[in-house]
Amino acid sequence: MKAKLFLIPVAALAAGLLVTSANAQGRNGVGRTPCDGCIFDGTEMTPLSDQEQQDVLFMREEEKLARDVYRAMFDLWEVPTFSKISDSEQRHLDAMGRLIVRYDLVDPVVDDTAGVFTNPVFVQRYDELVAAGSVSMIEALKVGALIEELDISDLRVALAQTDHADLEHVFGNLMRGSRNHLRAFASLLAAESETYEAIYLTQDEFDEIASSPFERGSRRRGGQCSGKNGAGGDPMVPDRSKNRRGPRGR
Ligand code: ZN
Ligand code: ZN
Repeated sequence: MKAKLFLIPVAALAAGLLVTSANAQGRNGVGRTPCDGCIFDGTEMTPLSDQEQQDVLFMREEEKLARDVYRAMFDLWEVPTFSKISDSEQRHLDAMGRLIVRYDLVDPVVDDTAGVFTNPVFVQRYDELVAAGSVSMIEALKVGALIEELDISDLRVALAQTDHADLEHVFGNLMRGSRNHLRAFASLLAAESETYEAIYLTQDEFDEIASSPFERGSRRRGGQCSGKNGAGGDPMVPDRSKNRRGPRGR
């Protein structure tokens, strides 16, 4: 009798109660902007693998790393691209945060202060990257290119390790943003007649991305799902910076 009673909720969970409550939670915790609904509504919620959880947490902090470093670089060099792209990284950070809420993970971002991370790898990277970018504006732009190729490389791995449509969606948007950021930094470097040697991507991969056109969000058709879903929105950033940069950037 007891065993039977116990079995019912489990079966009910398996049959979809979990999905319902997860979606409800998603709307509460995640649904602060209309576009979140586009990503999450109707997406069946199944548990993340350990690897997927790790990837979400890792990318959350990696986006913070990018934001923090670009803010520091803007403070130093006042190149508008750093400011614009750091805003974009904030949206990436937020998008990862919504996945963390959705899957009820423990957020590694407990202190939003620049350079503060739970994963010590990022503490060290932050210090190294800020030090490298403090040498000159050119070095700062190279740090930007480096961060973006690192992001692309890590997102590629994360994408290959997930079968969750919502993760694929968010990672895919972040990756598109990163390609645009890479293009922005590469074009600024090119304008300074600087060459950049790729580290995390092959040189061919880097050059191919750098020389291809800026990408716009893929979900801009109609209504609330305009590439602002926390991960998109990036494409506009480099475009604008390109226009404003005009005389010095091209
Ligand atoms: Zn990013
Ligand atoms: Zn980026």
